[in-house]
Amino acid sequence: MLTFEQLKRGAAVVADTALKTGTELAEKGKRQVDLMALRTKLSRTQRELGALVYSLHKNGEEDPELVEKYIQAVEAVEQELAAYTPDISDEANDADVRALCPSCGAEVDPAATFCRVCGYKL
Ligand SMILES: [Zn+2]
Repeated sequence: MLTFEQLKRGAAVVADTALKTGTELAEKGKRQVDLMALRTKLSRTQRELGALVYSLHKNGEEDPELVEKYIQAVEAVEQELAAYTPDISDEANDADVRALCPSCGAEVDPAATFCRVCGYKL
């Protein structure tokens, strides 16, 4: 459980973590790991932002600058994640890599030479 003080210190730390993650990992499979790390980081930063706002509210305090810092940290991670969007949609579209026969409309293997339903040459 994060304390209010930890949250206050955390704001400065958040920005450094992304840079570190990249250099410490091997090039192979790095993108995938980066993506996972970014997703984890995003949810963690969002959680911390929520905890901070909650703590401030509960203590009757206001610290718009600190809240803004966390919001910016969340936005920074979101932007990093957005850079991976083509890969994410690639994953999602894997199931759609199917072709339809232009003759009968049956679903065919993209590598097939003939439609298995009507025999049309693909
Ligand atoms: Zn066909």
